[in-house]
Amino acid sequence: MKDSSPIVSSRFPFGGQNDFFCRTLGLIDVSGSRFAIDEKIDVFEKRAAPVSDDAWLGTVPVSAVDGHPADHLEALLSLIVPCDAQAHPIAELRCGERVFRPVPEDGDGFCFVYPVPPAKRVGRHFHDDALAVLSDYVWLGRGAVDPLPTPVTQPDLGARLSRRIKAREVQPLHGVAQSEPFIVALGRYLAVFLAHHEITDAAGTPLHVPFFQLRSARDWIVQLPHVPSANELFAYLSRICNIACEFCYLFGNPETISIARGAKTISKPEMDLRMKLFTPETRQRLFKATWEINEVLVDPKFEKVARELRRRSDETFFFITNGNPLTPARCALLEELKPVELIISTNTIDFRNRSELMHEKETLTNVALGCFEDLDAREICYGISMVAMPDQSFDELEATIRAL
Ligand code: SF4
Repeated sequence: MKDSSPIVSSRFPFGGQNDFFCRTLGLIDVSGSRFAIDEKIDVFEKRAAPVSDDAWLGTVPVSAVDGHPADHLEALLSLIVPCDAQAHPIAELRCGERVFRPVPEDGDGFCFVYPVPPAKRVGRHFHDDALAVLSDYVWLGRGAVDPLPTPVTQPDLGARLSRRIKAREVQPLHGVAQSEPFIVALGRYLAVFLAHHEITDAAGTPLHVPFFQLRSARDWIVQLPHVPSANELFAYLSRICNIACEFCYLFGNPETISIARGAKTISKPEMDLRMKLFTPETRQRLFKATWEINEVLVDPKFEKVARELRRRSDETFFFITNGNPLTPARCALLEELKPVELIISTNTIDFRNRSELMHEKETLTNVALGCFEDLDAREICYGISMVAMPDQSFDELEATIRAL
C-alpha cells in the first residue's frame, strides 16, 4: 500500500525531480480544473508508460487554493538557478516579500545553461498554464491502473543552435527534450511563472531572466540498469564536421526534430565533467544529451579521451568517420586503442568525384582514399558507406565496391 509521503521512489539517486512535481502540484488549485477529483491525486512519471507502481512519484493532496507564487519559485530554485542576459546566475531575487539567494554548485567546473523557452499561455490563470506544463511530464491518476487523460503539447523550445555568451555556453533545450525532458519541464515552468509573476532585484527593479542553469550537475546523475557504454561519451565529441557533403542529412532536418545543433566542439570542461561522472563500476553516468552526430575523430580532445576510456573499458570502440582524419598518426592511435570498428563514409573511390561531392580539399581526399592499406596492415576492422547520388554511375559504385 502506498502512503502519502511525497517522495517514495525514483530511477534517480536524487529524488529532486519527484519532489518538484509533487511540491508544485500540491501548490496548484486543481479543484476547478479538468483534474478535479477526490482529495488526493497520484503522480506518475509519464515516460514509464503504461502506468505502473514503478512510475509512481508520490501522492499529492488536491488543493482548492493556490499556493503563494514564492512557493512555486522556491520549488524551482531547488533544481535550477535563473540567469541574467549574460547567462550568469542571478545572485538575489525577490518575489513579493520573499528574498531568494540561490547558490549554484559549480564545484565540478562546468554548468549546464539553457534558454528559458517561450511561455505558452493556455488560460488566464497561472495554475492553468502550470498544470498544462506539468501534465506533459507526469500522469495524474487515482491509483496505478487509472490514469486521467492528460494533454500533451508540442512545446516551443527556442533556438536549436548552441551559442556562447562571453565565457558562458548556452545549450539548446533540444539536446535534452528526448533524453531528459524534466529539464525542459523546469524551463517551461519557469517561463509560465515569469509570464504571470514579477520577480525583482533587491531595489525592486523587475528582472529579465532569459536563461537558467542547473543548480548542480550531480542532481542529474542517472542510475542505469546496465553498464554505461564508453561509445556514448565519444558521441559528445562529434558536434561538428570538417567537411560539407552535398547530401549531408543535417542540411535537410526540419527544425522540429528535437536534436541539438552544435556551433562548436564540446568544451573541455563539459567533457571533463562527463568523464568524471561516468562510472561503469556503479552503473552511473551524467544525464544524456542528444546532438547531431558529425565527426568524432577531429575533435582535439579525442586522443586524450580515447586513451582514458580505453584504460577504463575493454568494449569495442565504434566510430563513424568521413575518412579524411585517418592519417598515419591517427591510424596508429586507433591500433593502440583496439578493439575498434570504423564505418568510413567513402562514397566513391574516384578522387575528383569524392572531392567535389564532399566539398573536400584535395589533401584531405588523399588521406581519405589512401588510408585503407594502413588500416589493413594494422588489422583495424572497418566497413565503408556510400551514398547513391544521381551524378555517380553504377559503374563507379561497382568500381568502389570492388576496390575496397
Ligand atoms: S561527413 Fe557526414 S556529417 Fe560530415 S558533412 Fe558529410 S554527411 Fe555530413
